[in-house]
Amino acid sequence: MVQLRDDVVGLDSAIFMHPTTWVASGHVGGFNDPQVDCKKCKNRFRADHILEEYGINADKATLEFLNDQLDKLRKDGKLKCSVCGSTELTPAKIFSLMVKSNIGSPTEELKEENVVYLRPETCGGIYLEYKNTVDSLRVKLPFGIAQVGKAFRNEIVARQFIFRTREFEQMEMQYFLHPSLMKEKYDMWKDIRWKWYLQYGIPEPELRWYKHEKLAHYASEAYDVEYNFQSLGGFKEVEGIHARGNWDLSQHSKYSGVDLNYLDEKTGEKFTPHIMETSVGLNRLVLMFIDQAYNEEKLEKETRIVLKLDKRLAPIKIAVFPLMKNKPELVAKAREIYESLKPLYMCEFDDNGNVGKRYRRQDEIGTPYCITVDYDTLEKGDVTVRDRDTMKQERVQVSELEAFFASKGLTI
Ligand code: ATP
Repeated sequence: MVQLRDDVVGLDSAIFMHPTTWVASGHVGGFNDPQVDCKKCKNRFRADHILEEYGINADKATLEFLNDQLDKLRKDGKLKCSVCGSTELTPAKIFSLMVKSNIGSPTEELKEENVVYLRPETCGGIYLEYKNTVDSLRVKLPFGIAQVGKAFRNEIVARQFIFRTREFEQMEMQYFLHPSLMKEKYDMWKDIRWKWYLQYGIPEPELRWYKHEKLAHYASEAYDVEYNFQSLGGFKEVEGIHARGNWDLSQHSKYSGVDLNYLDEKTGEKFTPHIMETSVGLNRLVLMFIDQAYNEEKLEKETRIVLKLDKRLAPIKIAVFPLMKNKPELVAKAREIYESLKPLYMCEFDDNGNVGKRYRRQDEIGTPYCITVDYDTLEKGDVTVRDRDTMKQERVQVSELEAFFASKGLTI
């Protein structure tokens, strides 16, 4: 988004921001997940997740709606704790997802006057830097600000591998525009984001759109991208794409007292920009790509576990091995090749165990290429390069390695 597009700039904003930021955004008052406790086993559940198990969609539903639905199930004798089976479940209660800190405060006690929040999403920082960006970077509407960074939520139930954690990495992009462009740009970004998943190897049938029927009062459209997680047993959200109106900048303008209107120099119109956002969980994407790439392949004598990640996503691109660990001349040559490739690609050196075992280790972490240095290398100057997916091996001159990997589309 940032490197390849001329209309998006990158940002790295603070994690701790003025607490009023989160009052303005509505998080302090309303970023809650109603919870239900089991009185017997003391487990805690999200009320909307319990209802989901009974086929009731209660995403972002009010406390009243949740409790009405829970009461109905209770009356019918259907409501049971999914862990211990007890029927003693409490009514849903509000539970704030905001993580609090006393940073900068002279007291340890957390009170309304001294509490500072860890950001629950990265876009708050984008709104706060919107004016700075317009004033200093010569950007013109429509344009976007994107950032990757940590976000913190006091999730009631954090689990399912790294699908839901309390500390996670978000990648968000807020696209600022004139409202007349919303429909066109919304469709454009939906299309761009959908294709992004396909480009990195997610098959189209494993993806679907989920349209939000219940929208926040300021929003005009909201879709999630859902991926069919094999490891989690079905489709789950990985990204949200939201048309948010001008609510965010209006709120921040109101609470900060700063004019956030934009003056269109061509038309002379002054207005508060509307926002179209794409919001992704980086960790969730990692889980998605691992879920998709994980393969167990039956070979003649064994089963090989191989992570068929797109080469661009593989954490290690090349592993270099000396054929034998106890032959100093082979180790020295392998090290020399490793040192020469290291500045270009993420590489790993491995001389532990036999070569077959080393291949398996690299297969499991999705390394696309392995290089083995043997006695022919010392004589003829070539090495064996083995391909992760086909397991085919070919001899390549050491002096040609860079050109060889470039021809395979390998990037840093
Ligand atoms: P959910 O309904 O799963 O709690 P959400 O609708 O609250 O998610 P958003 O606030 O729209 O999520 O956040 C945007 C993206 O951030 C999500 O699509 C997801 O990929 C990621 N995300 C949100 N919460 C978490 C979390 N606790 N752990 C990991 N990723 C998360």
